[in-house]
Amino acid sequence: MQDIRDESLMQLTDFLVKNGEQAFRARQVYEWLWKKNAPDFASMTNISSALRQLLQNNYRLQHIKVAAEQISKDQSRKYLLQLHDGHYIEMVLIPSSDRVTVCISSQAGCAMACAFCATGAMGFVRNLSAGELYDQVYMANELAQKCYGSHLSNVVIMGMGEPLLNADNINVALNIITGREGMAMSPARITLSTAGVCEGIKQLAQEQPKIGLAVSLHSAIQSKREQIMPIAKSQSLVKLADALKYYHQNTGQRITFEYLLLGGINDSLEDAKQLAVYCRQFPVKINIIEYNENSHTVFTRSSQQQRDAFMSYLEEKNMIVQLRHSKGCDIDAACGQLANKKCKK
Ligand code: SF4
Repeated sequence: MQDIRDESLMQLTDFLVKNGEQAFRARQVYEWLWKKNAPDFASMTNISSALRQLLQNNYRLQHIKVAAEQISKDQSRKYLLQLHDGHYIEMVLIPSSDRVTVCISSQAGCAMACAFCATGAMGFVRNLSAGELYDQVYMANELAQKCYGSHLSNVVIMGMGEPLLNADNINVALNIITGREGMAMSPARITLSTAGVCEGIKQLAQEQPKIGLAVSLHSAIQSKREQIMPIAKSQSLVKLADALKYYHQNTGQRITFEYLLLGGINDSLEDAKQLAVYCRQFPVKINIIEYNENSHTVFTRSSQQQRDAFMSYLEEKNMIVQLRHSKGCDIDAACGQLANKKCKK
């Protein structure tokens, strides 16, 4: 049976009119589906029982459920979420002094197979629907109020999966998260992170120009990037630079590069030098991320000395560089660790 949240307002209107209902009913149902995030058809109290039964007979409405929660000493919370077909994804809530950010998943599993990532070790399961993407943000907003006493302020699409390989559903979900029919959240508070899907970056520039873009770069040396990120074989650094130039020209936005420092792999001064050269092509900000060591990969965290030297080099070249401390080091906070454990059980 079809997921009702895969239907656009126009499709829902057509369906209701064909079944003898008035067109305005579709907008009421749509509001229950998104703005009120109704748990089931029975809760749609301002529509007739006959219409509720019509919907029940033709569509399914199933939400994601919390299967497990881990709370870190730093107050970040990681959630294992179960989808209607039994698969698992992850979501992380990260509080800081002035905001609460949620990191959501875009796919169950991931086909990208990045060497440092626990999700990559799981392989690809399936794309998340627009409803499942929206559910995570809606649920995060409720949890933020319950756990931290404030509304959700930021969304990063940086959890399990490659969002630009699920671009159509991401686009629908973003339109509803930022639209009045949904959560009316400012697009400037949302960032999408990609491993570097070049066509998807260009499509994003057209469809969602106000959303922030982050690129998991991790090396500006082609051969090295291919070793740790297999996607680099088809989406080369040259091709990626072309897509990012297009993105910047069409959106005017600065690009964020995520750079995970892996001990002895990509943290030398030569790596920093190549990164600085690559970054001269467009306005960028570089987030240096400390690695969360985990049992799924052989990588280690860079030493503090190496990290400081790497960052100092970039700062001397007038780059905007920020260190992102790992949150939730005492829980399975690295992407895919919790779901990977669950899948193996
Ligand atoms: S880092 Fe992101 S893109 Fe790479 S395997 Fe993990 S989830 Fe996929």
